[in-house]
Amino acid sequence: MDAAARSCGRDPASVKLVAVTKTVSVDAICEAMAAGVALLGESYMQEAIPKLAVLAGQPVQWHFIGHLQSKKAKDAVKYFDLIHSVDSVKLAAALDQAAAKIKKIQEILIQVNAAGETTKSGLDPDTAVGVIEEISRLSNIRIKGLMTLPPFFDEAPERVRPYFAALAALRDSIEAKKIPGVVMEELSMGMTGDFETAIKEGATLVRIGTAIFGERA
Ligand SMILES: *Cc1c(COP(=O)(O)O)cnc(C)c1O
Repeated sequence: MDAAARSCGRDPASVKLVAVTKTVSVDAICEAMAAGVALLGESYMQEAIPKLAVLAGQPVQWHFIGHLQSKKAKDAVKYFDLIHSVDSVKLAAALDQAAAKIKKIQEILIQVNAAGETTKSGLDPDTAVGVIEEISRLSNIRIKGLMTLPPFFDEAPERVRPYFAALAALRDSIEAKKIPGVVMEELSMGMTGDFETAIKEGATLVRIGTAIFGERA
């Protein structure tokens, strides 16, 4: 990460590591924390809740990065500092309601389907601005940026580069609209196979599992 940032003239401190701990044991998570990992990402609510209970009070932030159903909104706001995967007004409204009940301002990212794949979650880039404007009016939600999960091109991370560039361009165009309450600080993009490319295109959060913990079972 450090080398990728330096290679394009970025401050390495401007890119944060989210260690993705889905399927990873509490012991291995503790090892990662001891090595300095401060942001942890989980994808499945059912798996995350018992792990979070064991690790409560640790000086780490928890990020939810998986597909989230509105009916899980209460758990999401209870347990997670940042939710990367908001892709509808309906889900944001459920999170807003749940956050209001516990007097929290829930920070979120908007997931964008930069490649237009119909099988994947995330907003179509063309509809993202309108949805962000609607979500920005919810008083217990704060939009902090965008997230994408591009198509997986095995061993060819350069092929995902246009999708990362498209997310960065969308970020710039949303920023230029100066929507009240919306900050575009974070670009969550890049995984084990393509994080260097993502950093070169402006990622501020990279989500990495395999490179840290090994192949998932
Ligand atoms: C699993 C997962 C990752 C991490 O993938 P690796 O290839 O193991 O680094 C990143 N983002 C999301 C949304 C994931 O589900």
